[in-house]
Amino acid sequence: MRLASLNLIDLNKYYPNGIHAVKDVNLKIEDKEFIVLVGPSGCGKSTVLRMIAGLEEISSGELYIDDVLVNDIAPKDRDIAMVFQNYALYPHMSIYENMGFGLKLRKMSKDQIKKNVDEAAKILGLQDLLDRKPKELSGGQRQRVALGRAIVRDPKVFLMDEPLSNLDAKLRVQTRAELSKLHLRLATTFIYVTHDQTEAMTMGTRIVVLKDGVVHQVADPETLYSSPVNQFVASFIGSPQMNFIEASLNENNGAVDVNFEGGTVGLNEDKVTQLKDKNYTEKEIILGIRPEHIEIEPSGEANKNVATVEVTELLGSETYLFLDIAGKNVIARVDPSLNIRVHDKVKFNFIPEKVHLFDRENEEALLV
Ligand code: ADP
Repeated sequence: MRLASLNLIDLNKYYPNGIHAVKDVNLKIEDKEFIVLVGPSGCGKSTVLRMIAGLEEISSGELYIDDVLVNDIAPKDRDIAMVFQNYALYPHMSIYENMGFGLKLRKMSKDQIKKNVDEAAKILGLQDLLDRKPKELSGGQRQRVALGRAIVRDPKVFLMDEPLSNLDAKLRVQTRAELSKLHLRLATTFIYVTHDQTEAMTMGTRIVVLKDGVVHQVADPETLYSSPVNQFVASFIGSPQMNFIEASLNENNGAVDVNFEGGTVGLNEDKVTQLKDKNYTEKEIILGIRPEHIEIEPSGEANKNVATVEVTELLGSETYLFLDIAGKNVIARVDPSLNIRVHDKVKFNFIPEKVHLFDRENEEALLV
């Protein structure tokens, strides 16, 4: 059985211009995982991928593939295939020739090349296009050919660097699903780089969130969404993003409230216990609440927890309300049947179990 696990130990990259692009990255990737590296532009995700591929020298640290140290092993001997954002197909070659070219260079026999190309074409639904030239294909089909060139090599690990960014929005959604199916079908390890949190959340079995060369959190999509370890991860994952409000924790007869200008939310027992254990019951904090965790009641007669609706965006299955809470902008995601209009005053309730609390100084989550 072919295995493909990777182990990155204290990986660092210094570029000659002095940029410390990757900082002490530790990551174990299991066989057959679909790992997504995600983060804003310049966070070092391509550099990590290129170090795995062997295209970029490792400044310090160790990289193991299946328990073999590969720091000094040439890219072609790593049994890895990479699909880039700017995949260049040879314009004068047919699709068949484009897909088989790498194998030809590796001196594979014609029969074996045909077998591999036909198999990859079948997986990708390209059988009827093999005689065409790249310019006779749509963008999505060309993207599949680029994937095909990697598949024919039957690598242990697939590396993909923003492979969908040249596709239009609709095709991107389709291709996302195709890549997930492909991963199941090939049963190999995928390592995928993107700046797009939606791609990360929809495809990754585990997600690695990077910023400034540092890994902030490694988790499955659900955990990342429900339990971000700090404010950066909380803000990066989810769309529209989590709302953040300056607030303070106040203890009152054993209960703990989160108070902020224009509103309050009482914490549930579980959170209160955790805060008490850490002596955090009186503290200036940042409150985080996701748009779908704000309950809205149409009439806001009370003088607390009342917001003014500034903008409504109807998206069909849901409506976004842009609220003004004592001068702060907060987005809520509600059911369109609530039928709320601009300038309405509404009562809001942050669902206590869903509230996130962050330290104001170091931006770490206070609770796990
Ligand atoms: P990402 O893929 O997350 O956008 P990169 O890994 O491409 O980020 O880049 C990480 C950092 O390293 C950035 O600051 C970038 O400018 C820098 N960088 C990338 N490639 C080089 C290079 N060849 N020489 C010098 N600096 C580089």
